[in-house]
Amino acid sequence: LSPSLALKCLKSPDPQETHKGNSPKHESAAGRSVPEEVLPKLVEEALVWSSLHGLVVGDGNNKRSGAVPGVGLVHAPFALLPVPFPTSQWRQACELAPIFNELVDRVSLDGKFLQDSLSRTKNVDAFTSRLLDIHAMMLADNKKEEIRLGLHRSDYMLDAETNLLLQIELNTISCSFPGLSCLVSELHRSLLNHYGKHLGLDSKKVPGNTTVSRVAHALAKAWNEYNNSSAVVMFIVSNEERNMYDQHWLSAELMERHGVNTLRKTLAEINEEGKLLPDGTLCVDGHTVAVVYFRSGYSPNDYPSESEWKARILMEQSSSIKCPCISYHLVGTKKIQQELAKPNVLERFLENKDDIAKVRKCFAGLWSLEDPASVGDAMERPEYFVLKPQREGGGNNIYGDDIRETLTRLTTEGGEGLSAYILMQRIFPTSYLSYLVREGICHHDYAVSELGIYGAYLRNKDKVIMNDQCGYLMRTKFSSSNEGGVAAGFAVLDSIYLT
Ligand code: ADP
Ligand code: MG
Ligand code: MG
Repeated sequence: LSPSLALKCLKSPDPQETHKGNSPKHESAAGRSVPEEVLPKLVEEALVWSSLHGLVVGDGNNKRSGAVPGVGLVHAPFALLPVPFPTSQWRQACELAPIFNELVDRVSLDGKFLQDSLSRTKNVDAFTSRLLDIHAMMLADNKKEEIRLGLHRSDYMLDAETNLLLQIELNTISCSFPGLSCLVSELHRSLLNHYGKHLGLDSKKVPGNTTVSRVAHALAKAWNEYNNSSAVVMFIVSNEERNMYDQHWLSAELMERHGVNTLRKTLAEINEEGKLLPDGTLCVDGHTVAVVYFRSGYSPNDYPSESEWKARILMEQSSSIKCPCISYHLVGTKKIQQELAKPNVLERFLENKDDIAKVRKCFAGLWSLEDPASVGDAMERPEYFVLKPQREGGGNNIYGDDIRETLTRLTTEGGEGLSAYILMQRIFPTSYLSYLVREGICHHDYAVSELGIYGAYLRNKDKVIMNDQCGYLMRTKFSSSNEGGVAAGFAVLDSIYLT
């Protein structure tokens, strides 16, 4: 199928165009704007609320803010009002979470599928190649992960023209904002409780969000399966982490509700302090590690030397529960997303026909660049596509004329480099006039949103202990920005207003 034919719809190539018309779709939150006399009060109340309730991140203007807790805090960037979202698509996204959880688990068990699908990528992408080497090493050792914990987040955009919920990507490692996302929902409920009448909005239409307690619950359950009451949950973190409070929310929940201790270590520290006992037990700094929870380790920058890779291998060889294990990590690559979207591939991993149909329905157009027809289509109409490398964390995708340039360069260089990327249909969500607050300043412009649904999956051998949807994260960015990460500085945290 030619990419152009398979596009689920043809959208305006310029998202700016869509809000020039008078379509009611393009008005501010739930079709209202905040009266000028109310706006400053609303912003101030939101800023106070964030500070009092821990909706905070480290302030980039303070050098110590990424290393020392309690120093240099600033409110997390947020949208002042929740973004309208249709109830049926919201339900659809929630229903998909357990199906994707199961899909990840099934695919992770097919080592050959992972290695084969990523074999060309391996030749041109050094980082993915290292991950595949670890995966191959574990296959060769016949290493079995009997207890598997997945904490995923499937991200979606709502296509404006068709109203289809389309998946952007499925994250299987280091999903951020389980802590802060629920606070934004609470912030919005609180603001609407006070100002809802002025704005014609009802706080009950913001769905409750309990991500932090549900994700902590999943980690605690995994810890429990490990069955060693003196063991800890180890967070893999970066040296500099301005999003540390999001992580501390989880640690606090683990301690206060579940009595589980956590340890924060960098990959370099694990290499220094970690050792494997003969029975496979991982000990770090004198602690037995029940669960390894990655909040770093997903990007090449997290591995500046061989020490970090050694730490990754040590953990993978251990009997600790890895969240994620190397195969779960690989299932979350963009290449695997694209392979799963090929005809008859989902059928290899899922039996239930309804589940297959539900998953397929949310797939946007995805193509390998090994097909010359895809390259041709992308060169001809780059505004309809996104070019994606195997990277995480935002800021890596290629859009518009840069697609043409990149494809021309890679083709001239011999074409192998094309295997580092996948091609995806560009999705154009409805833009709404929004109030986005960053560093205490409120900006007002058209913005688009991306909905993330958290999922948790835990199994021990044949027993599925947990397979749940675990709350949501809405992120909103100005329509003029291509990329979406909050930590990367492109987007703000948001919640939803069901319509
Ligand atoms: P990452 O793993 O770096 O987060 P994503 O696939 O989520 O990679 O892409 C980053 C951002 O780029 C998304 O948050 C979204 O804003 C934008 N984006 C990605 N894919 C598409 C797409 N198909 N259409 C429109 N925007 C997209
Ligand atoms: Mg990602
Ligand atoms: Mg993403």
